[in-house]
Amino acid sequence: MRRLLLFVALAAVVVAVAVWVADRPGQIAIHWQGWRVDTSVAMLLLVTAALALAFALGLRFLGWIVRVPRRWRRWIQERRRRRGYQALTVGMVAVAAGDPEEAVRQARRADVLLDEPPLTMLLSAQAAQLNGDEAAARRYFTAMLDRRETEFLGLRGLLMQAMRAGDSPAALELARRARRLRPDTPWVLTTLFELESRAGQWRGAEATLAEAQRRRVLPVETARHRRAAVLLEQARAAEADDRLRDAGDLAARAHDEDRSFAPATAAYVRLLGATDRQRKAERVAEKAWPLGPHPDIVAAYAALAAHADPVDAARRIERLVAGLPDHVESRMAVAAAALRAGLWGEARRQLEAVVAERPSSRAYALLAEVEEGETGDPVAGQKWLRLAADAPPAEAWTCTACASVAAAWHAICPACGAVDGMRWQVPAGAPLLPRTAESA
Ligand SMILES: [Zn+2]
Repeated sequence: MRRLLLFVALAAVVVAVAVWVADRPGQIAIHWQGWRVDTSVAMLLLVTAALALAFALGLRFLGWIVRVPRRWRRWIQERRRRRGYQALTVGMVAVAAGDPEEAVRQARRADVLLDEPPLTMLLSAQAAQLNGDEAAARRYFTAMLDRRETEFLGLRGLLMQAMRAGDSPAALELARRARRLRPDTPWVLTTLFELESRAGQWRGAEATLAEAQRRRVLPVETARHRRAAVLLEQARAAEADDRLRDAGDLAARAHDEDRSFAPATAAYVRLLGATDRQRKAERVAEKAWPLGPHPDIVAAYAALAAHADPVDAARRIERLVAGLPDHVESRMAVAAAALRAGLWGEARRQLEAVVAERPSSRAYALLAEVEEGETGDPVAGQKWLRLAADAPPAEAWTCTACASVAAAWHAICPACGAVDGMRWQVPAGAPLLPRTAESA
């Protein structure tokens, strides 16, 4: 629109000048070096304008000629860049497709064609890793540390290498550096938490977890459970140092973070008992039972009155499970206590309910004891023991990462080092084979 207006205005001026000149006719004579030109004013103006236009066009053409080499150079560069990026793309695809030779070849090409080390170094490192050349990959990752834009990626590469090599101190150092660089990145916080936990640096792990929680990196439930796990490990360390009060406080905090976490409840109950607060210990166990019934709580609760006579002890266990009396763990606890007190009928009633709902080797073994105790015949329990051999194995602290089974809960799997991987469940690694006629 503006151009149109400008054009109209310009045309108007030209027309006005032409009209003005036409209205005032006249002649001009030029004498120069023996030459003589006679012409009208209008013609002179026209020729002058034509000459000016020709001059301007000539200048433009000259400029274009002068710029040809530069344009040529730019075209060549552009073509190199395009081919470089193409090599980079093909190289990345080769990495993703697991083709090491092609990845290395394209990485070299991209490196030659593109003068952009930040882009090609990562591909070169990945290609080297794919080729099994960890030393070369380490060199690339280390070189990446020197540039601001690739420092974080380089750190990540070195960290993953250190973790795979099992070099925990180096991994911890790198993870801390990564956190200083980018405290917002979720994997940095979760990795640092795991490394600190594995190194037994529970206070550091707790602080990292708090930061992860603040930045909403973990689901709320997971974060609270992990905090309970970390606090419980700290309580254990304090207890090992004979700092019973500290241990009790830490176990209380662990219990508060996750009321369904039986190891924390059991530890809290036990430590309350150890510091002469039996009544409170009983209340804590009774309140927590419906949230996470577990044999560890039964053991801690029973230990509060270790010298009670067996019938009183059985009554106490009934009080413990009163909040959830029909749960399998409740029935098992009552049955075991009744068995010790010689209350055969009660024990049998509970165990029969258990095997009807969820048969287990643990329940059949107790039924065998009831049978033997009641009849006084040491072989009376045989039929239950045979069933026990066929029944699903009992639940145990099982690592969800490597399926190994531990006698007690640990925040770190003793076998594979997985963090917070232990769950109370039937071990997955124990397949239940049907009994054959031969084995029977
Ligand atoms: Zn494991």
